[in-house]
Amino acid sequence: MSTETVSDVVVVGAGIVGCAIARTLAGTDLSVTLIDARNDVGDGTSKANTALLHTGFDATPGTLESRLVARGYQLLGEYAEQTGIPVEHTGAMLVAWTQEEVDALPKLLAKAEANGYRHCGIVDSDEVYRRVPNLGPGALAGLTVPGESIICTWTTNLALATDAVARGAVLLRGAKVTQVSADADGTTLHTTAGDVRGRWIINAAGLGADHVDALFGHRRFTVIPRRGELFVFDKLTRPMVPLIVLAVPSSRGKGVLVSPTIYGNVMVGPTSENLEDRSATGTSEDGFEFLLSKGRALMPSLFDEEITASYAGLRASTEHDDYLIDLDREQRYVLVGGIRSTGLTSGMAIAEHVAGLLAEAGVDVAERDDLPPPPRMPNIGEAGLRPFEDAALIDADPEYGRIVCFCERVTAGEIRDAFDSPIPPADLDGLRRRTRAMNGRCQGFYCGAQTRALLQAGAPS
Ligand SMILES: Cc1cc2nc3c(=O)[nH]c(=O)nc-3n(C[C@H](O)[C@H](O)[C@H](O)COP(=O)(O)OP(=O)(O)OC[C@H]3O[C@@H](n4cnc5c(N)ncnc54)[C@H](O)[C@@H]3O)c2cc1C
Repeated sequence: MSTETVSDVVVVGAGIVGCAIARTLAGTDLSVTLIDARNDVGDGTSKANTALLHTGFDATPGTLESRLVARGYQLLGEYAEQTGIPVEHTGAMLVAWTQEEVDALPKLLAKAEANGYRHCGIVDSDEVYRRVPNLGPGALAGLTVPGESIICTWTTNLALATDAVARGAVLLRGAKVTQVSADADGTTLHTTAGDVRGRWIINAAGLGADHVDALFGHRRFTVIPRRGELFVFDKLTRPMVPLIVLAVPSSRGKGVLVSPTIYGNVMVGPTSENLEDRSATGTSEDGFEFLLSKGRALMPSLFDEEITASYAGLRASTEHDDYLIDLDREQRYVLVGGIRSTGLTSGMAIAEHVAGLLAEAGVDVAERDDLPPPPRMPNIGEAGLRPFEDAALIDADPEYGRIVCFCERVTAGEIRDAFDSPIPPADLDGLRRRTRAMNGRCQGFYCGAQTRALLQAGAPS
């Protein structure tokens, strides 16, 4: 990018939070550039989480996180309907296994109400087992949370990025910010892809947010990568888990959950382990053992079935107990840091909040009246109609009837569409996030070679 070009706003980080901010601001008269160190959008924490659309019932009341999760739940829920982001409103059951946990349920109900969520209810063990018959023995009572939902984190990130670009944002991938310098006209970000200039800079760099913040001269927090490992079970297990099964939270966190996934599997996790290495997204022996013992107690019969994959993500936790969102008028710089374990849900609300801070600082963030319609995203959710089962679509274009990935039933038509999309994948993992190709039980053993060939050709053969 030419150093002559000065965008009104440069957003650093194309995860869910940065893409949501870029989308919101690109909907105004401001010119927006969105940059990321990686070669794709949504390739950081936003690609590997538990993918729950949280109601915010268990947040700490009065925090910014509590407010933005509740608002984000509403905004993302509506946006998912408009764009076709897969969502299933399964609801959740928080299960009490000890008398101490039973005693905690009324407090959790009161907490939910303090967070503005009034739909929880306490149920006895009969009702718990009626709703989750495969639960292990010993459940004493439960708290129902009907609004908790499962969502596709990959499509969410991609929809927000695609929308931002459709609204005029310039997306620059493979541009890691390494230095920052300021002058009267704005700030120059020195990146691995050249200099990028902006009048305002928004730091939504996730696990790297403290490093970018330090380039602006601040020393106010340190990111502590908190790893969460998860197991994925074979699709045959999906009927065993009709809703999200949660643990009673303790001082050590929210505990291990069992949840259906939007792709028709079941997941168990996540672990919670503070690390130093911000790139340690591998799984571990200890994590495996921990999930095995916790998960077996929750639902023993599930562990008679096959685990087909495991993965890990890193939460950008910090030494603070809340999100760190702060605007510096003098530097014309906004920090959006510490978006730990709820940013998928709250991303759109964070964007709204950031726009509000800019408005208070005198920036015109009024929405344009010539916005393009939101993008309609390809459905990769198991509950909706997929191309391989859509006879009319296959009649019109036989490529949707030609299956490339048999485990996940991904067609050549969908792979072609991914390459033709406004933000095409940069690698096989990016293709997986757009189509589910190689996401199945064989992990690409059967379709890997063909998919790789398609990637190299840039289009289906
Ligand atoms: C195990 C786990 C479970 C979770 N479960 C849920 C859940 O169920 N529901 C929910 O709502 N949330 C959940 N979360 C949290 C959610 O995933 C995150 O809060 C969210 O993805 C954060 O998005 P982000 O955009 O801030 O960060 P990221 O997605 O990490 O994006 C930040 C981007 O900044 C880029 N970047 C960093 N440094 C630089 C630099 N110097 N220059 C340029 N670019 C840079 C990175 O490459 C990255 O792409 C979970 C997280 C984990 C780890």
